[in-house]
Amino acid sequence: MKDDLKVVIIGGGLGGAATATALYKRGIQAHIYEQAPELTEVGAGIVMHPPTQHLLYKWGLGELCEEKGKTVKKLDMLTAKGELIADGPKSGLDLLTLDSLEGYKPRVIHRAHLLDTLLTPLSSEYIHLDHKCESMIEHEDHVEIRFTNGKVVQADVVIAADGIHSNTRKIFSNDEPIFCGAHSIRTIFSYEETKHLVEEKRVVMYQEGDIIAFLIPVANGVALDMIYPTQDASWSKPVDKELILSHVGHFEEGFVRLFDSFEYPVMSRALYFRQPLEKWSTRRITLLGDSAHAMLPTLGQGANSAIQDAEAIADALASCETITEAFEQYEQERRPVTTAIQTQSQNPELLKA
Ligand SMILES: Cc1cc2nc3c(=O)[nH]c(=O)nc-3n(C[C@H](O)[C@H](O)[C@H](O)COP(=O)(O)OP(=O)(O)OC[C@H]3O[C@@H](n4cnc5c(N)ncnc54)[C@H](O)[C@@H]3O)c2cc1C
Repeated sequence: MKDDLKVVIIGGGLGGAATATALYKRGIQAHIYEQAPELTEVGAGIVMHPPTQHLLYKWGLGELCEEKGKTVKKLDMLTAKGELIADGPKSGLDLLTLDSLEGYKPRVIHRAHLLDTLLTPLSSEYIHLDHKCESMIEHEDHVEIRFTNGKVVQADVVIAADGIHSNTRKIFSNDEPIFCGAHSIRTIFSYEETKHLVEEKRVVMYQEGDIIAFLIPVANGVALDMIYPTQDASWSKPVDKELILSHVGHFEEGFVRLFDSFEYPVMSRALYFRQPLEKWSTRRITLLGDSAHAMLPTLGQGANSAIQDAEAIADALASCETITEAFEQYEQERRPVTTAIQTQSQNPELLKA
């Protein structure tokens, strides 16, 4: 492959940032084009599985990952009333343990801290904010990319890490995201607010029927991720205390008390997913992360998978003779495994107690 390969990444989320860093570590300076005016992640904690941590160390980000992420020793599953059901992952979550690597313990990190960590090696001159990709035209020897602000750039390779709403995915499929019948509310509490419920290194998971609420210690507090059933398919909507308590008002008193300290309304986001694709790449354009394989968060694998994709595409582009070979290698490595996780994450039992 030529030395000065020009790579453009559409999307500066966790997948796009990881890809730029994985390429940078191999001497390829990719340009990220992001539609938003700043790179930021809202939401709560992400469990970094051992293979993800392994990559962060490989990319020279191990110390930051240790500084900003917290190791987890225990997952306690509780009834709504706070009685212990079981320790450790339930059998339906076996995929979580399939990827274990010796020497790494699961570590939780706030999404914004993970994004900052992944962006650390990158120079701002390669990150272009306020650039919404409008169209791409693939030519024999390059791709022309047009942005809504009028800018036009050319690239040898385009990696579309443009998320679940990906426009680029339309090259491969006319599918639409599928609503799973649930919403998620995510926020951060202070340690002080949750100290009666959560100990250091212990993730708590309340479950009753279709309601699941995680309390996950992260570096800047304790992250709440609560999933509740609803037929409201709007992507996001503000909700008030009354709606939250209609689902969890009968849970243990210490948990219910947490909702006194919210500033209402809070945002509730619908959970959507996509079905696996049979192909991710054209001759010069490929998909990565949620644009390729948006999945339900039931296995906590979406961001982890995007980061694994990043290493695979960077390795393929750096080591293969041609772009075609690189895309083939990338898809062979990543499509079967993400297809399996995507399919497994749709298991309705994982959204129930
Ligand atoms: C409730 C919930 C909990 C989750 N928990 C976990 C977890 O614990 N562990 C885990 O591994 N995963 C988890 N996930 C999944 C994880 O959030 C996603 O898989 C991951 O963020 C995908 O990253 P991405 O970079 O592919 O896409 P995104 O983060 O969606 O980034 C896409 C980026 O592309 C930009 N973009 C889109 N279109 C354009 C355009 N036309 N031009 C320019 N830029 C564009 C967007 O603005 C965005 O910045 C969870 C998801 C949800 C909903």
